Amino acid sequence: MKNEKIYVTKPSLPPLEEFIPSLEAIWNNRVLTNGGPFHQQLEQELCNHLGVKHISLFSNATVALLTALQALRVTGEVITTPYSFVATSHSLLWNGLKPVFVDIDPVTLNVDPAKIEAAITQQTTAIMPVHCYGHPCDVDAIQKIADLYNLKVIYDAAHSFGVEDERGSILNHGDLSILSFHATKVFNTFEGGAIICPDVKTKTRIDQLKNFGYVDEVTVVAPGTNGKMSEFNAALGLLQLKYIKLALERRGLIDGAYRERLRGVAGIECLDRSGETVSNFSYFPILVRPDYPISRDGLYERLKENSIHPRRYFYPLISSFSMYRSLPSSQPSNLPVATEAAQQVLCLPIYPDMEMEIVDKVCALIASLSTGAFTASRDI
Ligand SMILES: *Cc1c(COP(=O)(O)O)cnc(C)c1O
Repeated sequence: MKNEKIYVTKPSLPPLEEFIPSLEAIWNNRVLTNGGPFHQQLEQELCNHLGVKHISLFSNATVALLTALQALRVTGEVITTPYSFVATSHSLLWNGLKPVFVDIDPVTLNVDPAKIEAAITQQTTAIMPVHCYGHPCDVDAIQKIADLYNLKVIYDAAHSFGVEDERGSILNHGDLSILSFHATKVFNTFEGGAIICPDVKTKTRIDQLKNFGYVDEVTVVAPGTNGKMSEFNAALGLLQLKYIKLALERRGLIDGAYRERLRGVAGIECLDRSGETVSNFSYFPILVRPDYPISRDGLYERLKENSIHPRRYFYPLISSFSMYRSLPSSQPSNLPVATEAAQQVLCLPIYPDMEMEIVDKVCALIASLSTGAFTASRDI
């Protein structure tokens, strides 16, 4: 195999020639943004594809998260997870809200519902969990607490495109869910995102907020932002949608191959997918446990020496960044499970057109280091 560098992901793109007619249509009709025909069509097709009621497209998921909090008029404190991409908590700070970090479940690495209640105060108005790596949160337990304390639930579902549980799309849980269509995600529009919501009234408010708060030519009802998706991104999304099934099938094969080859490697654990009836195989995280001969960082370096560039998602924890560190809930003693996971996790390369030889190479390396320590000591 060529010794090119292998990264954790390689953005999926449809055949270029199939995109040309869409570009010609945009050039001809001169509608570039502001809810044009491609935008409308993508919203409709995504609703059908995902099995959700309403979607509002955005320029990216971060602006979608900011807008979701505004749409529900969230105030005060919001309970969230430290084990995520930093945009989750940043959306709270941008809205003047106080993040309250709650530890995660050691199996799913999602927020642990059993620890939420103790973090609720008079100021708490919402919970923002993350379906980490696309694996569903314990949505029923979270909703039960939300109902009991009258809290909103906004899921950062950036990893969850197409994931289903036995009731259908996991995007239908909570008050709102946010998807990311960033280049590195399972379904990409270069940059992009969306809010999934259950009713027209909420969608209308979200659509106003992403367009400066405009209701009509002369009426502005809120200090909205510019979160609109352009026609270019929407047209690309429509084409990507044609290939998503194939892309997920290929990801599934790679996921299965990893699991098979890593089974029985002492000290390496793959995350399980119980609770999902349809997975999207968006990431392939492993946990490098203490009984593996070298540390997670040791393995990370060894893989890089061999042209494999895995990612330590999610390390460092959000709570350890300077703008969060001084919060009482950021203390590592409050977050022992997340702290340990951040030290042990490694996301291995996974993308649709990845050659199986890469899986073989990565797994052979991981296995050889495991038995390598044994061989070395025997050789001495
Ligand atoms: C990617 C990601 C985001 C941000 O998405 P953008 O579209 O890049 O703004 C937010 N939350 C999580 C969990 C993510 O992985």
